[in-house]
Amino acid sequence: MAHNKQQLLRHLSIKLIFSALIIMFFAAGNAFAAGPVVTDVRFGGDQQKTRFVIEMTGNSAFRTFTLANPNRIVIDLDEVEWKIGPGGATGKGLINNYRYGLYMPGTSRVVLDLKNPVKISNSFIISGKNGKPNRLVFDFERVSQSAFTASVAKPSVQAQRVATTRKPSNVPSNGKKIIVLDPGHGGHDPGNLGGVKVNGISEKNVTISASRNIKKILEASGRYKVIMTRNRDVFLKLRDRSRVAHVNNADLFISIHADAFRSPDVRGATIYTLTEKASDREAAKLAARENKSDVIAGVDLQDETDVVQNILIDLVKQETMNLSNRYAQELSKELKKSIRVRKRSHRSAGFAVLKGIDVPSVLIEMGYLTNPTDAKLLMQKETHEKIGNAILKATDKYFQQNFAYN
Ligand code: ZN
Repeated sequence: MAHNKQQLLRHLSIKLIFSALIIMFFAAGNAFAAGPVVTDVRFGGDQQKTRFVIEMTGNSAFRTFTLANPNRIVIDLDEVEWKIGPGGATGKGLINNYRYGLYMPGTSRVVLDLKNPVKISNSFIISGKNGKPNRLVFDFERVSQSAFTASVAKPSVQAQRVATTRKPSNVPSNGKKIIVLDPGHGGHDPGNLGGVKVNGISEKNVTISASRNIKKILEASGRYKVIMTRNRDVFLKLRDRSRVAHVNNADLFISIHADAFRSPDVRGATIYTLTEKASDREAAKLAARENKSDVIAGVDLQDETDVVQNILIDLVKQETMNLSNRYAQELSKELKKSIRVRKRSHRSAGFAVLKGIDVPSVLIEMGYLTNPTDAKLLMQKETHEKIGNAILKATDKYFQQNFAYN
């Protein structure tokens, strides 16, 4: 028996080593394997029939569905790499605009905003010969709105709910305050492309690089532990962003954005806090735009039971709002010293990302990507560091003044 047991054990351990090797092999393989790469997208046709072609190296399965209000077509692919620009552009024929990016690990998404209701009359793959890329072809035909509405089906793949599946961080905070930094937009929601004509940047890229630099500065102080809602170019629902703060018991939530305006002259940073009623029309408009993130990204909001959304403002304790305002005031003072800010640097509106959150929170619009000077500055590390240092000083003051033990 003992002999058998030993044999069994040896057999098992060999098996384990073997599996470990396979896993290592796959892990290494993944790091080097070139996944499918989208190298071009193009449109053809007119207001009655439009063809959309995605060119890619490698293979990817695809799945399409339609969404109404506004009318959209969504194409989900296996995760691909995009080598076609900053996240979206204008379409042609029946397509107004399109956006693309990582929807969640494993799935990439293209969203087509429709000029008119359509049906997908045909979709197929043409294999590229002689090293040429494969082509995914989608043909659209104009139909009535009622026909389109009838075609609307719920997507079977839902956005990953990051925060609910996420356990509180395993890394002990060692008495450090926890700050959640939320780089706005991501994946197939590029945010505003204000600077796209000037320099090909998108809000989602500016917010992630700024957040990474801000995180470094906050953590270098030794007083703060920073958790990012996203640390790669991936889409996150607005509500999942604030959940990261909630489940991690954060002390502060800071959402990072960059603004756009029709006039290229407007520049400077603004800090926003949550209120039911916007402080001014411009703030209300901005909140409406930022809140569209989920819609733009092709998320079907119909399945969202909005109990949480509706009771949020009532539930958010007055205390949390007061603290958010105090923090925004400190931050406004510090930001003014180092970068250009708007005249009224602290405003308020109904930002979805700040709603339903029981953590003092602010949203920073760091400047305008539609202003060439701001756009240039916002791509520079020095500017991110200036913003990071201002946040650090404001955060220090905020905790000293509101949570001093003596
Ligand atoms: Zn934004």
